[in-house]
Amino acid sequence: MSMPLNADSLPLLMEQSVQGRAGAVLPPLDVPAQELPDASLVREDLQLPEVTEPQVVRYFTLLSQRNFGIDTHFYPLGSCSMKYNPKVNDEMAFLPGIARVHPSQTDDTVQGALGLMYELQGYLAEITGMNGVGLAPLAGAHGELAGMLMVRACLRDRGEHQRNLVAIPDSAHGTNPASAAMAGFDVVSVASDEHGNMDVRALEDVADERLAAVMLTLPNTLGLFDTNIIELCETVHRAGGLVYGDGANMNAMLGRAKPAQLGFDVVHLNLHKTFSTPHGGGGPGAGPVCVGETLLPYLPTPVVEMNGDGYSLARPEKTIGKLSGHHGNFGVLVRAYSYIRTLGNTGLKQVSGDAVLHANYLLASLRDTFDVAYDRTCMHEVIFSARAQAHAGVKGLDIAKRLLDYGFHAPTMYFPLIVQEALMIEPTETESKETMDGFIQAMKAIAGEVEDDPSMVKASPHNTPVSRLDEATASRRPNLRWHAP
Ligand SMILES: *Cc1c(COP(=O)(O)O)cnc(C)c1O
Repeated sequence: MSMPLNADSLPLLMEQSVQGRAGAVLPPLDVPAQELPDASLVREDLQLPEVTEPQVVRYFTLLSQRNFGIDTHFYPLGSCSMKYNPKVNDEMAFLPGIARVHPSQTDDTVQGALGLMYELQGYLAEITGMNGVGLAPLAGAHGELAGMLMVRACLRDRGEHQRNLVAIPDSAHGTNPASAAMAGFDVVSVASDEHGNMDVRALEDVADERLAAVMLTLPNTLGLFDTNIIELCETVHRAGGLVYGDGANMNAMLGRAKPAQLGFDVVHLNLHKTFSTPHGGGGPGAGPVCVGETLLPYLPTPVVEMNGDGYSLARPEKTIGKLSGHHGNFGVLVRAYSYIRTLGNTGLKQVSGDAVLHANYLLASLRDTFDVAYDRTCMHEVIFSARAQAHAGVKGLDIAKRLLDYGFHAPTMYFPLIVQEALMIEPTETESKETMDGFIQAMKAIAGEVEDDPSMVKASPHNTPVSRLDEATASRRPNLRWHAP
């Protein structure tokens, strides 16, 4: 059966309901009937669909196929690393001995789980060059908050209460200034130079006794390796501040460069981007913070330690406290552990090599078709601008929508904010040349359509179950319930 593409051709489950139809038949009662403790807890008036099991399975399977997902489509959503994640890592997280441990079990009954976390702390420390790792944060932004709280605690211990300024480049991900502000800092934006690096002179202007830290993303959110990085870190340290690294883009650097060696004092990783948990959809994530000597005593609690008796949970000496219930998102940690172990040293290095090669392949193939924001060797993602299409009245949004008709998820749009009509494309390390060639052909075809038939492009998508949605209302006032007509 082919997938219904018309929104009307898949009746809601409630509309398929036939009175008396059921998905399961229970055998006759062979035990004494029991009274319910409180019959008022049972609602008789609920309208539930009366359907068979195959109807339910088909309904939800078809519904799932109406979406674009990494298991069905190329998903070049820049900054999100929507790569293919090997299923073996899910299988490891589903193993009964792993999935069924309870977070309140005593340390001596979960030595295997603690051992896994201990080793993962070690791997992430090795990958980032840092001295200690806290696995508790549940997202990238949560890791940022942890880092900023550690910076604040450290500066207070030094008696430097006047350091309340955090400098952030104007290309940064929005979570960076939000995290700094939540930790009580004032945020100052630092301009990028014409090459897409942070402007060293502009940083020097704010590098004084009020500077607490700089938050830098590397590679930055323009998909570029900031070639001033060492000078930037030295400038901050000379001024007495600390350097925070947003490591959400670590798939571009794995096995090649360690943030600690470049001058970072703290960096968070997005396990749900780089290390094998799919990102997006509001699912679980993990944003471990990795720190150098300076911030080691402040790590969020708990961390896993090893001593003669085995593994145990420990509370760092000057910890900023607890950031999540129990130990963080254990299942995500297991996937990351499995990912690192299956790839090993050489595999991780190939990840970054392929991620960067693929983005540069797209850059080279499309630079004559679309404007490039910064035309220099990129890292794991490339940012085009649809400003050259403006003369036809077509915007980046229209191009992104038209890509859906060609069977590709749209790229990230209008970010970073400093690029006009930005289309931020991250092919990721796991796509084949054939897939990327298909994407390149689609982008070129759309560029032609923009010239020949711009109104068709502006009315796209045409082949999806629904066309343009009212995205603001969909997120502000979502209608998730069926109401009787
Ligand atoms: C995704 C991302 C974040 C935030 O991560 P979340 O897990 O979504 O909170 C921060 N910085 C950059 C550069 C990112 O790409």
